[in-house]
Amino acid sequence: RLRQGHRQIPFNKPGTLTRILAVSSGKGGVGKSTVTANLAAAMAAQGLSVGVIDADIHGFSMPGMFGITDKPTKVGDLLMPPEAHGVKVMSIGMFVPDGQAVVWRGPKMHRAIEQFASDVFWGELDVLLLDLPPGTGDVAISVAQLLPKAQMLVVTTPQVSAASVAERVGSLAKATKQDVAGVVENMSGLVLPDGSRMDVFGTGGGERVAETLAGAVEHPVPVLGQVPLDPQLREGADGGVPLVLSDPEVPAAQQLRAIAASL
Ligand code: ADP
Repeated sequence: RLRQGHRQIPFNKPGTLTRILAVSSGKGGVGKSTVTANLAAAMAAQGLSVGVIDADIHGFSMPGMFGITDKPTKVGDLLMPPEAHGVKVMSIGMFVPDGQAVVWRGPKMHRAIEQFASDVFWGELDVLLLDLPPGTGDVAISVAQLLPKAQMLVVTTPQVSAASVAERVGSLAKATKQDVAGVVENMSGLVLPDGSRMDVFGTGGGERVAETLAGAVEHPVPVLGQVPLDPQLREGADGGVPLVLSDPEVPAAQQLRAIAASL
């Protein structure tokens, strides 16, 4: 019998082809979780086998964004993850009574993420996405240690101050020797009723973050796309159906689907 914490994480076995993407951001509220949920749903719609680990332990949001109210079921030693929109999801939110907070320090969060990676029946995934907490704290380091193959996907707004915060992720990636798959610029302009565009959060943040990250990790980092502001994106997140599925042809959904296809 394996001791706690010594079960091998299947994604780390030699020859495993699962692509692992850790979605991170410099600060909260830039749409990291919304982007994670939409990319996962878009990839599943494109025919890939997709799993999501909600690693934003204190700020979990994946069950809500996927409309999942089921709990994982136990099969032998493993947990079967609930599935919605073709995506398998594990979140601490599935174990916490409504309205209660998770009051955990770093080591316990580390253990939870380790269990989500090792003690869950994921099957053969093409892609595993992790919704990280904002910033460069304990959990981001835990994910890098537990899943050394994970590449970072950095979400920022076009705002220069948000971009400079997102750049800190570069020093984390450098320290943990993680690759950066690319940058998603979210909340990138608002199309007004007259068809003109209003740059609510300024411009250029995505490019700037990508350049700085490229310097930190010493490989090219692309801006994968610019997702405009769209109230429907929020409504989809609140309603449990990602916009890429409910209204795939609107510009924000098109961008997200293109990003998913490019990854
Ligand atoms: P984070 O995970 O970075 O904290 P969230 O994904 O929770 O951010 O998004 C923060 C808020 O902004 C949510 O209410 C979400 O629905 C909304 N939101 C995210 N991206 C967009 C967008 N492109 N247009 C409109 N609302 C958005």
